[in-house]
Amino acid sequence: MARVAVIGAGAMGLAAAYHALKAGHEVTVYEADSVPGGMAAHFDFGGLSIERYYHFVCKSDRPTFALMDELGIGDKMRWVPTSMGYFIDGRLHDWGNPVALLKFPGLSFVEKLRYGLMMFLSTKRAEAGDLEKRSAREWIESWCGPSVYQRLWRPLFDLKFYEYADNISAAWIWTRIKRIGTSRRSLMQEELGYIDGGTLTLVEALSKAIRAKGGDIRLGAKVEEIVSEGGRVTGVKANGAFEPYDAVIATVPTPLIPKLVPGFSDAAREAYAKIENIGVACLIFKLKRSVTPHFWVNTMDARMGIPGFVEFSNLRPTGDTIVYVPYYMPVTNRNWARPDAELLDEAFSYLKMVNPALTDADRIDARVGRLAHAQPVCPPGFAAMIPPVATEIAGLQIADTCFYYPEDRGISESVRYGELMARAVNDPAVWKGAH
Ligand SMILES: Cc1cc2nc3c(=O)[nH]c(=O)nc-3n(C[C@H](O)[C@H](O)[C@H](O)COP(=O)(O)OP(=O)(O)OC[C@H]3O[C@@H](n4cnc5c(N)ncnc54)[C@H](O)[C@@H]3O)c2cc1C
Repeated sequence: MARVAVIGAGAMGLAAAYHALKAGHEVTVYEADSVPGGMAAHFDFGGLSIERYYHFVCKSDRPTFALMDELGIGDKMRWVPTSMGYFIDGRLHDWGNPVALLKFPGLSFVEKLRYGLMMFLSTKRAEAGDLEKRSAREWIESWCGPSVYQRLWRPLFDLKFYEYADNISAAWIWTRIKRIGTSRRSLMQEELGYIDGGTLTLVEALSKAIRAKGGDIRLGAKVEEIVSEGGRVTGVKANGAFEPYDAVIATVPTPLIPKLVPGFSDAAREAYAKIENIGVACLIFKLKRSVTPHFWVNTMDARMGIPGFVEFSNLRPTGDTIVYVPYYMPVTNRNWARPDAELLDEAFSYLKMVNPALTDADRIDARVGRLAHAQPVCPPGFAAMIPPVATEIAGLQIADTCFYYPEDRGISESVRYGELMARAVNDPAVWKGAH
């Protein structure tokens, strides 16, 4: 049995620690933040414990359900009929079911048919196949035509990925369409889930199980270096002190890896450095009044600098209305430097455009969560860019949310990867034939 260091107490790191302990290893988790959870962490929003970043669950998130069952919190899953809206041409329209598509303005009947067929077949598709080599733009245009792309998709890509917008993998967008498209009660009714108490319920159950099995979770413990000697990992340096380990599992964002592992060859360092991320300034509002009846609203309006917003309280009952407005962008974008207060005022003005009944008096509270590495940018051919999880340094495994591409970042995939990494401590064959 090995002494294992896990770096990062997000969903992947906690799942890796839990499964490594189950396998009999001695485990220490290092987390730079003062709370566990990573992207799934909560904060205290004026007495409401809620995710810094909105989280919903889909019916295909099976690794999450299996883990929750094992931790004895399987009964905490809640399912809610939800809907989507599109704010376009200054009006809010229903979206996300065949009738809404047929009623949608500005598309011809043939365009609607082709759009509907593309969505339907995407939910039935099993493998990425040639989508791995194609761009999302080219794939969508080949199905629905350039004008549909311009009207429905282009602003979404532009306002999330900016200079990367035309070069996003079709395989990545396909898995997103499929995950949402298959989370339904019926053809007409989308159904999404949340964990009672929020993602913190899972984070706390995992943390408790880790401690009960003798694992150590160290918060405010930033790993400064993963140390190796003669091609084998020997330990980590955290808060200036070296601690020896037989195996290290790193779950931190890949852009941080080249600096963290001085023992890597130039080629390995370059592979991690090539993977780019965008950041998110995720605004959260507490309001006295609902903005729309929808969980998710896409916004297509030249006056707006956002691709949409999430009215979270239409999924999880939170008392007051809770709305997240994510501003995704490369952190080199000049908007990244804008003060929180300016973004909050701007975003609130957008919400008022969608619901003119909303007034400043409805605004109870608001915060901003910022994350520099919020979303990997996956261009066509991305699968070939992902470094192996079992690295060239024996005993060192590395993965983050881009490793399970073409799946998008998500708790379910992170916990699945955490379990695989724990198994691979004893059995490197786990990664044979995988990324
Ligand atoms: C805005 C937003 C919305 C999302 N919505 C959803 C959703 O609806 N549904 C869903 O399933 N998923 C969603 N996700 C994705 C989901 O949160 C992630 O896929 C998942 O939480 C990632 O877990 P992880 O452990 O892989 O990574 P992370 O959560 O990023 O964990 C990595 C951890 O490493 C720590 N760390 C970094 N450097 C060091 C260091 N040097 N030493 C020690 N610790 C370090 C970090 O502090 C962090 O806690 C969303 C994410 C965002 C940002």
